[in-house]
Amino acid sequence: MGATGRAAIFFGSGKPFKLIEYPVLDPGPGEVLARLDYTSICGSDVHYWRGEDPVMEDLAANGLLLGHETVGHVERLGSGVTTDSAGQPLAEGDPIVFAYFRPCGRCRACTQGRVNACETVMGGLLRPPSEPPHFVGAFADYYHLRRGQYVLKLPDGMTPEHGISANCAAAQSWMGLLRGGVGPGERVVVQGAGGLGLYAVAAAKRMGAGQVVAVDAMADRLAAATALGADATVDVTEFGDPAGRVDRVRELTGGGADVVLEVAGVPGVVDEGVRMLARGGRYIEMGQITRGSDVFQVPALALLMRNISLVGVALYDPQILRDVVGMLGDLRADPVITRLGSGHRYPLEDIDAAFADAVANRSAERPVLDLAQGGPA
Ligand SMILES: [Zn+2]
Ligand SMILES: [Zn+2]
Repeated sequence: MGATGRAAIFFGSGKPFKLIEYPVLDPGPGEVLARLDYTSICGSDVHYWRGEDPVMEDLAANGLLLGHETVGHVERLGSGVTTDSAGQPLAEGDPIVFAYFRPCGRCRACTQGRVNACETVMGGLLRPPSEPPHFVGAFADYYHLRRGQYVLKLPDGMTPEHGISANCAAAQSWMGLLRGGVGPGERVVVQGAGGLGLYAVAAAKRMGAGQVVAVDAMADRLAAATALGADATVDVTEFGDPAGRVDRVRELTGGGADVVLEVAGVPGVVDEGVRMLARGGRYIEMGQITRGSDVFQVPALALLMRNISLVGVALYDPQILRDVVGMLGDLRADPVITRLGSGHRYPLEDIDAAFADAVANRSAERPVLDLAQGGPA
């Protein structure tokens, strides 16, 4: 067919991205070719960009196509694809979100239902973009979904703008709470009210949590958490030491939380987060993604004597995207949710500036690559 699309290739920390044109291949049987509308710069992208992950840094020497928090529409359907992964009719032009990874369905974790722990779940992301189908990451005009990769049509009334954080920040927060088993009436503490934490506040309320407490050091983030339904906030700067914060949370929750979700990304908060739990509580570790500066200490007795569960969560079960999109659709007029998806827009050729912005800017909104600008029609 002769069409080409742009991809911004990463060659390692400190090096500029290189825009390369690749041929756009027709999707094979069971595959979907997406034309991307927006891709945000996620915290994990920033870690790779800064060279904080030696494995990724090695792979980048040959060129990597990063980018995964993305939304787009169907460009072409491969043969046999007539519906999305939820069984809804799917046609060219439909706005879609998709899981940026694909559980294999056959390994032990997959067959036991823990698909986000699949042994090869990330394999698809690290394929060399120089080889077909080229569009294996989302800092590009197109994305080539593999057979079986979860794809969901956005419901009527939802535009790609509304789904901008669905497949990473919003879904990840939802998965953390799901693994924490948040049930109706439970008391939930969210450590860190950045992008992930704010979606977690909204998700916890939607799951029926009886009380949600947000903990952060920035007043505007705490105000946003309150606007999204947090019942109480704890401003870290008002309490000089962790013990003061623990006391405050235990007071607010009447003896401790049922679930604490860590999305602050600072190892020092884990110990105090565990102490914020009631007996039998669940601690969900999701925020420490920097290799080497991820080590925390928790006294074993603080866990075992009080029957605390400590659970690590990465990625999510793609099936939850339906619930996540439902939440984002219902909240599409919410000012905080709208603001989270309204980070500064950059054309793909300005991706280096977008990354610099992501590093310098501490607001919860992620910079967004607007792939309609300068891309193929
Ligand atoms: Zn992400
Ligand atoms: Zn698997």
